[in-house]
Amino acid sequence: MALSFQTVIGLEIHVQLATKSKLFCSCSTDYIGARPNSNVCPVCLGMPGSLPVVNGRAVELAAMVGLALGSKVQQATRFHRKNYFYADLSKGYQISQFDLPICAGGLLVFDDDEGKEVRVAITRAHLEEDAGKLVHPSVDGRLAGALHSLVDYNRGGVPLLEIVSEPDITCPPHARRYTEEIRRLVRYLGVSDGDMESGSLRVDANISQKVSDGRWGSRVEIKNMNSLRSLERALEYEVKRQRKVLAEGGEIHQETRHWDDGEGKTRSMRSKEEAHDYRYFPDPDLPPLIVTADRIEALRSLMPELPWQAERRLVDAYGLGADDAKVLAESAAAVAYLDGCVQAGAEAKRAANWVRTEVLRVLNERKISIEAFPLKPESLASILALVDRGKLSTTAAKDVFDVMVRDGSGLDTAMAAAGVVSGRVEGSRLEEIVEKVLAENADAAEAVRSGKDPKDKKIKFLQGLVMRETRGQADVAQVASLIARKLS
Ligand SMILES: [Zn+2]
Repeated sequence: MALSFQTVIGLEIHVQLATKSKLFCSCSTDYIGARPNSNVCPVCLGMPGSLPVVNGRAVELAAMVGLALGSKVQQATRFHRKNYFYADLSKGYQISQFDLPICAGGLLVFDDDEGKEVRVAITRAHLEEDAGKLVHPSVDGRLAGALHSLVDYNRGGVPLLEIVSEPDITCPPHARRYTEEIRRLVRYLGVSDGDMESGSLRVDANISQKVSDGRWGSRVEIKNMNSLRSLERALEYEVKRQRKVLAEGGEIHQETRHWDDGEGKTRSMRSKEEAHDYRYFPDPDLPPLIVTADRIEALRSLMPELPWQAERRLVDAYGLGADDAKVLAESAAAVAYLDGCVQAGAEAKRAANWVRTEVLRVLNERKISIEAFPLKPESLASILALVDRGKLSTTAAKDVFDVMVRDGSGLDTAMAAAGVVSGRVEGSRLEEIVEKVLAENADAAEAVRSGKDPKDKKIKFLQGLVMRETRGQADVAQVASLIARKLS
């Protein structure tokens, strides 16, 4: 009988917390682009005699993620030393949490690409410090052949929250969706920028196969997946590899494998360490971390609306389609902007459509966040009110919108500048359009001018082009007389 397989995946997501200073010292966390080894001190380098002090903001951010995931935020936790040697870790140990993580348990519920509900239990989320970075100088522009490595400790000590899932994920697309949801959550809460490419969100996956004949393949850990796409590709590759080995009667060894995005395969790195290999012991320099019940309740009361709650509200209260709601609920600021438009009197669906297309287009073009968007929600609402009252066509409204965004001007000024008055293109704007049309159609213009247009065919053609350019917002008689004047 043919064998069948079941995929079992658990994910460990490391999220860099958006604090100003490191987890146990006051060094800056701003390491990207900083001079190597400039943001370091005796504490994060682990010099003897230096004493770490916990960053309260990092604890708060970790607790916020826990509250959002329905975890138990533990009142008494502590830090352990995880001992291992690597050149990017000058201390010889990493301060992490072991038996008492800040957040215990939890659940993430999301819909898969087919709209089916998926539930993934969260095991824990714990605080730990990041390591430094090795830099491999290139030789004549090539990486291979470098005779030495350099080390930059600026990243060492930056706070991380490691979110560990139960092995509840059954296929690579669900692993991608789970990661998308965690990324959306941490961004929405302002806990992290969640950028996978720069490494502020890093995913390690544990994957194994259960075979229908009762065998279990060992768990394999996959590292080095720098995008959602590589996460899904790496897992798809690993599912095939493990199934082939098991189908041929082979064994899967417990190991860590490295994803090579260029080659499109995973490669064995090392056999997997067990927890006891790290000789965990409580950090003698750090007292137990107590987060009082009052503090947790205060944080709970300050928790903003969560992205999935906002998504549901946009559908229920504003009548948005699921797709629009999902796009807008990627960012708390986008939802707040839409709420602002609606509070200023805009019709929700029209406003949502404008935020999703026009506002997001400007944000992408200018590479700015919505907080830096120059148009206030009230101003967008005032444009949309004119559209609603039939005073402005949608195309004219877009011209006005562009001018307001470009010049930062008010509605009336922008309408004048765009040549739009109560929905009419006239004055110098209309003259410009006529001149442009005539210049682009010099043959037809010359025929009219020299009287070779007996049936007025060419003049009608030119008028039609001007009307199209003004999107029907000009007065036909005015267009005709302007053309006649220019060609007389
Ligand atoms: Zn430091």
